[in-house]
Amino acid sequence: MAKTRPGVPSKIKTGRKELDTYTIKGTNKVVRAGDYVLMRPSDAGKPPYVARVERIEADARNNVKVHCRWYYRPEESLGGRRQFHGAKELFLSDHFDVQSAHTIEGKCIVHTFKNYTRLENVGAEDYYCRFEYKAATGAFTPDRVAVYCKCEMPYNPDDLMVQCDGCKDWYHPACVGMTTEEAKLLDHFACAECSSDDDVKKSQNGFTASPADDVKVRCISLVIACVNALLVYNASFCRRSVCNLVLSVQFDGALLSVKDTILGSVWICYLLNVAPVLTAKHSIC
Ligand SMILES: [Zn+2]
Ligand SMILES: [Zn+2]
Repeated sequence: MAKTRPGVPSKIKTGRKELDTYTIKGTNKVVRAGDYVLMRPSDAGKPPYVARVERIEADARNNVKVHCRWYYRPEESLGGRRQFHGAKELFLSDHFDVQSAHTIEGKCIVHTFKNYTRLENVGAEDYYCRFEYKAATGAFTPDRVAVYCKCEMPYNPDDLMVQCDGCKDWYHPACVGMTTEEAKLLDHFACAECSSDDDVKKSQNGFTASPADDVKVRCISLVIACVNALLVYNASFCRRSVCNLVLSVQFDGALLSVKDTILGSVWICYLLNVAPVLTAKHSIC
């Protein structure tokens, strides 16, 4: 390889050629700008990286490079993977890069959240993205997310939820004292609040495909911060839910018991740097 002589400007900028397509080595799969690709990770044990191809070019020696924008997996984000993140969830990052085309292993599809929840079958190549993510600050766009159930968590499309015929909110079976198997057998479901209400109008079908996004909305960073605050306090919440925990907070000599907005309470504790004391575990654990 020729050495760059001092005083001689490098020729990096010259001899580049924009390409319309690149055919993945050993396949007949053609990649174009705008396509989603899987790239070989540096650590062979890790899942492939996912990126959106912005531009493809060849240098003077015909090495093909792809300009790409990375998708991050929840575990690569500052807040980490949490129970409401689906297995196929990705965040569109603001991290742009140039990679050798040889690292492309295959193609995939990154669906919108809505389209993903409507898929009949989810294949290995199907992913979804509902947030853009700023790698430096950990901020999400949009910063609001619909939340459901008593636990006020965003929808994880991997988890079955049941809709209440009355209030139309969606519930995790575990949060309303049911197993997933029991929930699957239900034709109708009314939450505890609605089943005590005589005026519940029964709808024809207790289930629809997925939660509508017209209910409660929370700040996504706050949801993540609260769940993480619970982890900081080593709170023993069960598999998914923080909903039925009863927290007691020792603050300024007063013992406050909080039943309702648990996440909000935990967040306040976190801000005040007061450790909440768990007095009761999840009701069905
Ligand atoms: Zn729940
Ligand atoms: Zn209800």
